[in-house]
Amino acid sequence: MTDGASQTWEARQRGDRPVVPVSCLTPKYAETEAVMVIYQNDSIFRLPGNGESKERCGGWVHPLSCPNYGQPTIEGKQHDRFVVQHSCHSPDCPICYESWASREAQRASDRIIQALELYRKAGINFGKVKHVVFSPPQDEAKRLIRTAEGFRNLKKQAIKIFKKGGVKAGAVIFHPFRQNDPREDNYNPDMPDMIWYLSPHFHVVGCGYLQKSDEFYDETGWIYNNIGRRETIKGTIKYTLTHCGIANGFQALTYFGAFSYNKVVIDEEIKIQEPVQCQVCGEYLHEFALIEKEESLEPDWKQDLGVYYHVVIKRTYKLKGLPKTESKVLNLEQRRLLE
Ligand SMILES: [Zn+2]
Ligand SMILES: [Zn+2]
Repeated sequence: MTDGASQTWEARQRGDRPVVPVSCLTPKYAETEAVMVIYQNDSIFRLPGNGESKERCGGWVHPLSCPNYGQPTIEGKQHDRFVVQHSCHSPDCPICYESWASREAQRASDRIIQALELYRKAGINFGKVKHVVFSPPQDEAKRLIRTAEGFRNLKKQAIKIFKKGGVKAGAVIFHPFRQNDPREDNYNPDMPDMIWYLSPHFHVVGCGYLQKSDEFYDETGWIYNNIGRRETIKGTIKYTLTHCGIANGFQALTYFGAFSYNKVVIDEEIKIQEPVQCQVCGEYLHEFALIEKEESLEPDWKQDLGVYYHVVIKRTYKLKGLPKTESKVLNLEQRRLLE
């Protein structure tokens, strides 16, 4: 037992706080190696995490700890101590696809939040952000997604339909598959449990006032489900990306309407180095040495290398054609770039 996964497991056995990477980039592989299997897939799409990982993926790179680790707190919480793992940020990597999803979701959330603020300052209020699922007529959609050309047509049609249904601004993520879950209404006992099967639909995170669903169906043949939004924008998008459709030549997430690339553009992109704070006390985390033990690397919690700085990319956006607003420094959530 010398790899990262067993070290995590051993740490848990000792009752330590789980040794996991920086929170927003937690790859799942320590617990599960679940590869998502697709039933009779004749589309151009695949699911995330089904490719090959690289040698370094998931490897330990930066042991981080709060200087107050081990000190008791009033609430009985443990100060931060964890090891940052290497990620290749590829959607196909079985170890890193969740960190890919996190990073994309963070970027999308920053963009959406800033865009709404910019529009508000320009006197345009789009209202609350919703999460809506749009399902096209299934037979035709399944046929279209067998080719890149077909999918392009389906997507074009979809965006017209979202706008017609009332969405003024949105981020869209395509899901070619659903999971055959015995707890769900559309469970099919003729298929293996939990297998993924073709069932094309679109997730839209966006704003606007939706047309009544029965009217919408009568006019378009499409069905929508307003899921609302129980989570943060980032959380919703991240979850949606972890089982989205991946196909060569297509972005997993795109924008339309008032969020599209020709309306909301990057104003500035700054790379900065930033310390990481302990979630319990706010103290800056220190980096510790990684030492070789037998065939594995282990953190040496006695060798303090000082405050750890990670690279963060901050992006600010502007609306094209509108004057620059003063609100340059919007409260951006930090985006972590490991190495
Ligand atoms: Zn602390
Ligand atoms: Zn990887």
